[in-house]
Amino acid sequence: MKEGLTHLIFPRKCPGCGIVLPAGELVCEECAHEFRLIGEPACMICGRPINSGEKCYTCSTSERSNDFGIAIFAYDDIMRKAMSDLKFHGQKDNSEYFAAMAVSRVGDRIRGFDPCALIPVPVHKTRFRERGFNQAEEICNKIGSLIGIPTISDFLYRNRKTEYQKNLSRMKRKRNTMGAFSCNTEKYPPEKVAKELERVLLVDDIYTTGSTMEGCAAKLKESGVEQIGLLSISIVMGN
Ligand SMILES: [Zn+2]
Ligand SMILES: [Zn+2]
Repeated sequence: MKEGLTHLIFPRKCPGCGIVLPAGELVCEECAHEFRLIGEPACMICGRPINSGEKCYTCSTSERSNDFGIAIFAYDDIMRKAMSDLKFHGQKDNSEYFAAMAVSRVGDRIRGFDPCALIPVPVHKTRFRERGFNQAEEICNKIGSLIGIPTISDFLYRNRKTEYQKNLSRMKRKRNTMGAFSCNTEKYPPEKVAKELERVLLVDDIYTTGSTMEGCAAKLKESGVEQIGLLSISIVMGN
């Protein structure tokens, strides 16, 4: 279907305020200024803004298996709503705005890293069934089609349904995500990983304490991935 026609039938809504957008636009002019982008200096491991040095306090005091991390937006009120609309209210187009912004902000860095694949942080299959999709995978697919890198979503998976992280304390989050992820080593044995998944970019919608990303990154490393970059569309400020 032509883009114009698709737009008439399914008009795209602004991820910030929900107004119907002119064809070809991903955000309204006002909300374009409302979404807060992360700038420098930022922690090299998670991408959270810092005042000085290379790493934030959390990354310098916790185990981290990834080589670098980038965050695009601050997870503030407008982003919270846009993410929740994407995840729970079928507003899948929001992922297009997030992907386009990620590519315009850090596309060159991603190309420079030259990942073999984009890997979405997986959701449990029950949640996948409830929602019909994984928001991180939606974002990966869109970023991937803009920069020509495949998304691989059958390597890393979630073993059990973790509780919603936002309801948990930091210690509980850590326990909640330890052992929550596995890699499909039958389909991707070490020889194959060494050849085809040497470098990967792990992608998620929201970075909170980093325990989910670390749970994933540690598993990827254990399964033979050599270099891991993180890309978070949004990051909770503070910590
Ligand atoms: Zn708007
Ligand atoms: Zn950090």
